[in-house]
Amino acid sequence: YRTMAKSKFEYVRSFEADDTCLPNCWVVVRLDGRNFHKFADQHNFTKPNDERALRLMNKCAATVMEELGDIVIAYGQSDEYSFVFKKKSNWFKRRASKFMTHVVSQFSSSFVFYWSEHFKDQTLLYPPGFDGRVILYPNNQNLRDYLSWRQADCHINNLYNTTFWALVQQGGLSNSLSEERLKGTVAGDKNEILFSEFNINYNKEPEIYRKGTVLTWCKVEENSNKRITPLGEQEGKDVVIKRTRSRVLPFHVDIIANQFWEERPEILA
Ligand code: ATP
Ligand code: ATP
Ligand code: MG
Ligand code: MG
Ligand code: MG
Ligand code: MG
Ligand code: MG
Repeated sequence: YRTMAKSKFEYVRSFEADDTCLPNCWVVVRLDGRNFHKFADQHNFTKPNDERALRLMNKCAATVMEELGDIVIAYGQSDEYSFVFKKKSNWFKRRASKFMTHVVSQFSSSFVFYWSEHFKDQTLLYPPGFDGRVILYPNNQNLRDYLSWRQADCHINNLYNTTFWALVQQGGLSNSLSEERLKGTVAGDKNEILFSEFNINYNKEPEIYRKGTVLTWCKVEENSNKRITPLGEQEGKDVVIKRTRSRVLPFHVDIIANQFWEERPEILA
């Protein structure tokens, strides 16, 4: 191993700010697509929800979890994703800039890399970008409230967007009349518009739209075929080898109530 040669310029390293994350806190990195309102328009996203885009976001987030260390859970909706590093993580000595830049760059390159797998008939017209931030939460309640906040945001926006686009696409309203119609309405009013005017039961809309996506590590049994030649025999034969592996899996479930967390106590451990 070799050390970097010292030079008279070396002192400039001391200008680097210390951005070590406070010990024992949950480290959350949230990224968000830059100017995705325009990006969605230019790439002909289906309104209100483009499933290809959501699945691409989920694929990129799973890639981030598999490539980087210590992420215990992630939550995504629209053009955003939040990643939670375990409290005791000492990845890159807990430097905030390392957490954030590795997450955002791995996500961004994955977005381009996996684009064509999800958007078969839509070419990527320009390189998309994502912003990132780091937030520290000192206890489990704060972390759960953070994730609840993002999922509540998903619900509020999706109910609004679903009603807005029903009024436009099925009701024939212009965008501005639809917006006018929804001004001052509460959740119950929007549910009622959807049900009575468009025969849409909001609660039957796909869960990926209403709840967003939670990614967690799950133990899965995987079978692989291996050809072995038993001792003293000439012929090889195929045997099935079972092993348990940790995989990142997506769920479109409520994470605001206790049930999700009670069923997976290891996440907050
Ligand atoms: P900023 O750069 O400030 O984040 P933005 O245009 O990305 O600006 P956001 O508040 O992040 O604004 O909103 C993202 C927008 O991207 C949504 O309002 C929606 O128009 C669009 N969008 C993102 N994902 C999807 C999707 N899966 N289906 C349809 N539209 C989407
Ligand atoms: P870290 O993730 O900590 O940055 P690293 O392996 O990227 O680890 P660096 O100190 O950034 O380590 O060094 C980058 C290495 O990549 C170089 O040491 C060299 O081996 C290789 N490398 C980068 N660019 C080139 C290049 N243009 N030609 C040949 N090798 C290169
Ligand atoms: Mg380097
Ligand atoms: Mg934003
Ligand atoms: Mg955005
Ligand atoms: Mg957003
Ligand atoms: Mg390097």
